[in-house]
Amino acid sequence: MQRPLQRNAPRVSEITSFEVSHAGETYRINLKRTAAARRFTLRVRAAAHDVVLTIPARGSLNEAKSFAERHAAWIGARLRRLPEKMRFKPGELVPLRGVVHRIAHRPALRGSVWIEAAPQDLADEAIPLMWVEAEASFVPRRVQDFLIREARRDLEAAVARHTTRLGVRPCKITLRDTTSRWGSCSASGALNFSWRLIMAPHFVLDYLAAHEVAHLVHMNHSAAFWGVVAQLSAEIETAEAWLKAHGTSLLRFGPGKNARN
Ligand SMILES: [Zn+2]
Repeated sequence: MQRPLQRNAPRVSEITSFEVSHAGETYRINLKRTAAARRFTLRVRAAAHDVVLTIPARGSLNEAKSFAERHAAWIGARLRRLPEKMRFKPGELVPLRGVVHRIAHRPALRGSVWIEAAPQDLADEAIPLMWVEAEASFVPRRVQDFLIREARRDLEAAVARHTTRLGVRPCKITLRDTTSRWGSCSASGALNFSWRLIMAPHFVLDYLAAHEVAHLVHMNHSAAFWGVVAQLSAEIETAEAWLKAHGTSLLRFGPGKNARN
């Protein structure tokens, strides 16, 4: 006799994550089903600060859970070794256009954010301030909103300059929070960028804008494409090198899990 299908048992493909507890700590495990996977594989990703469990096509959720539970001590050890997340909290540091600022808070009902330059006479010691006027619990979200606004302003200006230079049509810009790429250009000519580029030095953001605008002319990475990028940016190598060396550190910053809107 055949066993009836268990309609209520969730299939792994419908579940994207679950939690595992070990020694007083709880870890979120993200699931990734891969047809090519032959066995369960755990990865702790430094950039995203998360845990990914790859499971074979036929692996069940129960098997996935018991695999993660058996390796919970390993997950904990790996997560503890990662550099800490940088939260957008008062007193913490946040880079803006490559310059480190300290977040300063002033309680107020209305929200507003502004930059106060470091005093000149203390040049070596002083750090410019990012003032955030808001209710305390709103500070992280206000900082992120401010960074996204500044990113949009800088990217729109850079894209406008590069499209004018090439004589191509200006295009729609979307800001995302991607962990795998800093910018992309769709077949329809829409440009996507990571808002985190506003934390990098300006030449890096400007190079990324040049790179994606050049894709409006060549949808590939051919020699002709790089020729167009070179017309727009003199910083190809330095910007690529900067992203390679420091790009993942930009992913450490964020409002934190419990930031209010
Ligand atoms: Zn490209």
